[in-house]
Amino acid sequence: MNTWRNELRRFLLILAAALVFGLLVGEISFVLLIALAGYSGYNLLQLRRLTQWVAKDSHKSDTQPPESTGTWGSIFDSIYRLQKQERLASDYLKNILDKAQESSAALEMAVVMINKQGTLDWWNRATEDLLGIRYPNDRNQAVTNLIRDPRFADYFHKEKYSQTLRIEAPGVSGRTLEFQITLFGEHEKLMLVRDVTQLHRLESMRRDFVGNVSHELGTPITVIKGYLETIADNLDSFDSRWHKPIEQMRSQSQRMENIVRDLLVLSSIETRAAPRAQEKIDLGELAQEIKGHTQEIMAEKQHNFSINCPNEIILLGQRSELYSALSNLVINAAKYTPAGGMIELRAALDSTGVKIEVEDNGLGIESHHIPRLTERFYRVDPSRSAESGGTGLGLAIVKHILARHDSELEVKSTPRKGSVFGCHIPRERVLD
Ligand code: ADP
Repeated sequence: MNTWRNELRRFLLILAAALVFGLLVGEISFVLLIALAGYSGYNLLQLRRLTQWVAKDSHKSDTQPPESTGTWGSIFDSIYRLQKQERLASDYLKNILDKAQESSAALEMAVVMINKQGTLDWWNRATEDLLGIRYPNDRNQAVTNLIRDPRFADYFHKEKYSQTLRIEAPGVSGRTLEFQITLFGEHEKLMLVRDVTQLHRLESMRRDFVGNVSHELGTPITVIKGYLETIADNLDSFDSRWHKPIEQMRSQSQRMENIVRDLLVLSSIETRAAPRAQEKIDLGELAQEIKGHTQEIMAEKQHNFSINCPNEIILLGQRSELYSALSNLVINAAKYTPAGGMIELRAALDSTGVKIEVEDNGLGIESHHIPRLTERFYRVDPSRSAESGGTGLGLAIVKHILARHDSELEVKSTPRKGSVFGCHIPRERVLD
């Protein structure tokens, strides 16, 4: 403000001096014209120096501003200060970008940025090795054109990114990659890809091992159980002190058989890919079948078991698997509910699919156990579970089956009040 006032003062002084001089020489207009032309000429000269200075590439070099005083001097200084601040800020950002690029280049994991049109924006060095993507040819290419596996296209478009996807590396057999996508910004996607070949191999070795061991144990256990049953049927021919041990051996061999059976079911679900062909499953009919097969346990414990399922809900999936999952939930409800309980198997259609639930008014589960229920051999109360003939594998089987039907197990429970075990089957699997 001060410089502006000074400039105005200077201009008025020049005018006053020109006026006085014009009066003295008797040529007011001529002298005034000369003074104004001189003032404008000076300003034009400063403007020229300014444009010449600004035209130099200030981003590259620190060019000093032209020497000047008054208003022009302060304009040059202000522009110089702004340029300096901008240079510092851009150096800082460049430094951060360089560091981000260096660290992402050092990562063994592929990092890919995908814009909202689904095309590649940026990727790190590991991406070129893992996915065979090349710079600059593949820039702005659609990611689903570069990774041509239909399972990837499905994963990419369905946007259920809480899960990861494992598939073979494009063009390299025997290499397994795991994909994880996260949404950010305006529907942009950050895709992380890592090589999990070793892990995948170890997992399949473990699965094969469990499958083989269970298979090998099957025959000896059946033989032992067979003999023990024959012995138990002829208990009278044994000394009475053997009665209890024989009964215990018989019930434990039954338990072993159950465990081996469940382990085989689990390993077959884990190793076999979900079949592409889907069966049409009448949910109401399936529920009635479960009711029929659980009649004995319900009657034994005098439970009131009801089914509440609207007619004609047809699901697409594997019937035997869904039967196994739902009957596991119903049998658990019967096992963990004291005699005379209420158990309900219900289903309801909504706009996004079908909700299926099994509710009981039994023992309930403390909340800290709930996240671990689907772990193999996890039991809330090991002694009670063993007593009820449980193997600790039932809910692990349920979880796998539901995952193969694009769903997951949801558990709500209150200790001493009861539990609700349910799942939501998405719309794509419901036939209209
Ligand atoms: P198990 O063969 O022992 O029943 P599951 O995997 O089926 O194994 O269940 C795991 C544990 O979850 C059980 O040991 C039991 O403690 C608990 N559980 C399952 N269903 C219920 C239920 N409806 N009410 C109370 N607890 C349950």
